[in-house]
Amino acid sequence: MNALPKFPYHRDPRASGPLRESAEPCECCGLSRGILYSGVIYTAFDIKNLCPWCIADGSAASRFSASFFDANFCGDSGDSVSLPPEFHHDVFDRTIGFSTFNPIGWWVHCGEPAEYVSRNEPYEMIFECRICHKQHTIEDFD
Ligand SMILES: [Zn+2]
Ligand SMILES: [Zn+2]
Repeated sequence: MNALPKFPYHRDPRASGPLRESAEPCECCGLSRGILYSGVIYTAFDIKNLCPWCIADGSAASRFSASFFDANFCGDSGDSVSLPPEFHHDVFDRTIGFSTFNPIGWWVHCGEPAEYVSRNEPYEMIFECRICHKQHTIEDFD
């Protein structure tokens, strides 16, 4: 498979993200790149095949008003945090989604969304601050 584009807020989408190998074309760019996203797509359009590149560069988000998370930003104690709209766009509309049991709180530290690192099954989602590198666990119970 091709190397994936970089996702600044999702460390290893190949390990944690819903991706599938497929020869079908992406419905956004029309290219068959061998790999498609297979997670949830929040959009009013009936689309199934999106490639990670169209998610990373924002073209899927702008063409289909798509987003990939049912989430909001939160601080250390789970309290909600407001951030400028660019952060919402970069994290929720331009990041490969991963499955969760609940709408998730996306950890914020040092004034920025943290990077999603991995999931410790069954319930812990590990985030790391992109600035100070502190880690934090968000629990996602089923
Ligand atoms: Zn594409
Ligand atoms: Zn920090």
